[in-house]
Amino acid sequence: MILPIVAYGDPILRKVGAEITKDYPGLEKLIDDMYETMVKAKGVGLAAPQINKSIKLFIIDSTRMYDEEEKNEGLKEVFINPVITKETGDDWPYEEGCLSIPSIREDVYRKDKVKIEYYDRAFKHHKREFTGLTARVIQHEYDHVIGKLFIDHLKPLKKNLLKGKLDKISKGIVDVDYKMKFPKV
Ligand SMILES: [Zn+2]
Repeated sequence: MILPIVAYGDPILRKVGAEITKDYPGLEKLIDDMYETMVKAKGVGLAAPQINKSIKLFIIDSTRMYDEEEKNEGLKEVFINPVITKETGDDWPYEEGCLSIPSIREDVYRKDKVKIEYYDRAFKHHKREFTGLTARVIQHEYDHVIGKLFIDHLKPLKKNLLKGKLDKISKGIVDVDYKMKFPKV
C-alpha cells in the first residue's frame, strides 16, 4: 500500500522517534508499505516520520543510485533503533534532496564514513561501517528519526533564501507526482 509522504512543516518531522520492539503492531506490513512508497516516489531512502510514524525506523536502497553493473556497491536494508556511533573521514559535498521537501536540492557536507548499530527487519543486531553514497543515505535517513532535516546542515544565509519555497511546500504549492500530506492545507 502506498502511504502519503508528510511534507515539510509538519511537526512530526521534528520529533525524535521512539524505539520499537519486534512486537510493534504491523511491522512487516509497515516495512513493505514503506518500500512500495519509496520506490513509487523514486526515492533511495525513507524514514518512518515521513509516513507519519514517530518511531526509530528507516529503510534505504542505495543500489538504486548505481548503474546496473555496479549495483553490488549499494545496499538495500532496514534500520530499526539505529545509533550512529562514529562519523569519520573527510567532509564531502553531495547534492541531497528529500521526499518531504520536493523541488529543493542542495549540496550538503557530511563525513565520508559512518559506524552504525541497528536491528534489521528480523530484529537481528548489527554493528557495521559504511562509506560513500550508502553512508550518505544512512546519514540523511538517520537525521529523520532524530528530528533533523538536510536543510539544517545548510549555512543560515542559504536556509534563509529557501524560506519562501519551504513555506509554499508546507502549503502544498509544489509540483509533485507522488501522494503527500501537507501540514498547511
Ligand atoms: Zn529526507
